[in-house]
Amino acid sequence: MAIWICKTCGAHFPPNDAPPASCPICEDERQFVPEGGQEWLAREALVTTHANEWSELEPNLIEIAVSPAIGIGQRALLVLSPHGNILWDCTAILDKKTRDRILELGGIKAICLSHPHFYTGMVEWSEALGGVPILLHQADLAYVTRPSAHIQPWQGDRHDVLPGIALHRLGGHFEGSSVLEWQGGASGKGALLVGDTIHVVAERGWVTFMYSFPNLIPLPAREVRRIADRAVEIRFDRIYGPWRDKFISSNAKDSVARSAERYIRLLES
Ligand SMILES: [Zn+2]
Ligand SMILES: [Zn+2]
Repeated sequence: MAIWICKTCGAHFPPNDAPPASCPICEDERQFVPEGGQEWLAREALVTTHANEWSELEPNLIEIAVSPAIGIGQRALLVLSPHGNILWDCTAILDKKTRDRILELGGIKAICLSHPHFYTGMVEWSEALGGVPILLHQADLAYVTRPSAHIQPWQGDRHDVLPGIALHRLGGHFEGSSVLEWQGGASGKGALLVGDTIHVVAERGWVTFMYSFPNLIPLPAREVRRIADRAVEIRFDRIYGPWRDKFISSNAKDSVARSAERYIRLLES
């Protein structure tokens, strides 16, 4: 039996002889099913043609991305801390070389997810690294396509993972959309790992907030205001978005505040 992966979004499905009939993440109104219908990749074949790439973004922060890119080009971020390592978001495959490298660094204490578009291979990663707890917000549990006993849903608006590392549910893009506060990031000024919850845009120093990115569906002004107000309460100077060129190296808190203000002004004018 094969582990089937949705080619469009990278979601994994339970072992089965035949591919799934549909992908609930792609059929959700925030994503899309491509022209010509859904295609499926068998995990075992995929690892012969694709591998993980490893690059350091700053001290104690490593980007792990699949090359060539699959799904929506998801990457994971490995945060190294004195209290243990955390994987933020996930990719569709974990190859042996990367697994061995992570184990040499002491393994990981938890896999923390921003939202369903990054769930991808989280169960594969967890199992390959010894049954690592998968922390995703309870509000988005319905989008899990490969159930596992390692999934530990969390509730509420804050979940402390390790000293100096905490999940915050800001919502918006998904009801459970979360960010990861990493106090050790940006030379101790704090970094926020945001996924799509706060989305870094092309113009340097600005972000946006969307219900759907591919279908260009905005969020209501009250939601944007609420997200910005919550972000103010978190200590950070830097933001890492979902892809390598999506980051704000300093004064990122100001970026969130002025971007929210502009968004609300345009929605309400
Ligand atoms: Zn999909
Ligand atoms: Zn998303």
